[in-house]
Amino acid sequence: MASKITFIGAGNMAGAIIGGLTQSGAAPESITATAPNQDELTAIGERLGIHTTTDNAAAVADADVVVLAVKPQIMREVCQKLADSVQKARPLIISIAAGLDATTIDEWLGGGNALVRCMPNTPSLVGQGASGLYANARVSDAQRQIATRLMQAVGIVEWVEDEALLEAVTAVSGSAPAYFFLMFEAMEDAGVTLGLPAETARRLAIQTALGAATMASQSEHDPATLKQNVMSPGGTTERAIAHMEDANLRQTIAEAMQACAERARQMA
Ligand code: NAD
Repeated sequence: MASKITFIGAGNMAGAIIGGLTQSGAAPESITATAPNQDELTAIGERLGIHTTTDNAAAVADADVVVLAVKPQIMREVCQKLADSVQKARPLIISIAAGLDATTIDEWLGGGNALVRCMPNTPSLVGQGASGLYANARVSDAQRQIATRLMQAVGIVEWVEDEALLEAVTAVSGSAPAYFFLMFEAMEDAGVTLGLPAETARRLAIQTALGAATMASQSEHDPATLKQNVMSPGGTTERAIAHMEDANLRQTIAEAMQACAERARQMA
C-alpha cells in the first residue's frame, strides 16, 4: 500500500492492524501512530518499526489515510481538535469506533470528508477478524480498495451499502465472538458433567469449533449439508441436533441477534 497512513490511537486495534499491514508487505516508514503516552508509542514504534508522535494534528497533515482508533467516548474531542488539519489535508478517514455514525464523525471533523465506517471484531487481534465496512458518498473506488486492503490485514472484509446494515453486522460478527465463547463454556461444563477433566473438555470443544469453522470456510457445501453429512440416521449426532432443534436453539439465536442489532441502533 503506497499511501501514507496515520493511526490516531496506538492501542490493541491499531497495533493489530499495523502488525497485519507490515506482515503483508506495507512499508513501516509509511505508517504513523499517535497516542498521548510516550511509553506506549516507544513500545509500538520499536515493535513495528513505524513512526510515532504525540502530535495528532501533525500526523494528519501529510496523511492519505487517517484511521480513527481511539475509544468512542473520546472521539468527539479528538476529532474536533483534528478538524483544521483534516480540512487542509483531506485524507480518507476510516473510523473503527463502535456505535458512532459516519455523519456525526464527519461533522466533528468539519464536514465534507470521504469517510469509511468499519465494524471490526476482537479476533482481528489475532488476524482472524471479520469487518463490515460502509463508505459515505465521497469515498472513491480507489479509496474503497485502500480501506479493503487495510482491514484485510486482520481478516475478512464485507461491504454494506446502507449504513444501518452495520447493526446487522454487529449482530452477525461484531458481538458474535462472545456467542461462541458462551458455547465453549457450556460445552466445557457439560463435558465435565460427563466425566472429562475441564481442561480436556475445553481443548476438545475449542479445537472442534476451529475445525468446523475451517471446514465450513473451505467446503463447497453449505452448513446445512455439512451438518447433514455428519448425522447418520439413529446416530449420536442426530440425537444431539434433535435436542437442540426441540429446544428451539435457532429461535434463541435469532432473538439474541435481534436484541443485539436493536441495541446497536439505540447506541448509534
Ligand atoms: P485501546 O484502549 O487499546 O486503544 C486506544 C488508544 O487510543 C490508546 O493507544 C490510547 O493511548 C489512545 N489515545 C487515547 N487518547 C488519545 C488521544 N487524545 N489522541 C490519540 N490517541 C489517544 O482501544 P482498542 O481496543 O484498540 O479500541 C480502539 C477502537 O476500536 C475503539 O473505538 C473501539 O470501539 C474499536 N473496536 C475495538 C475492538 C477490539 O477488538 N478491541 C473491536 C471493535 C471495535
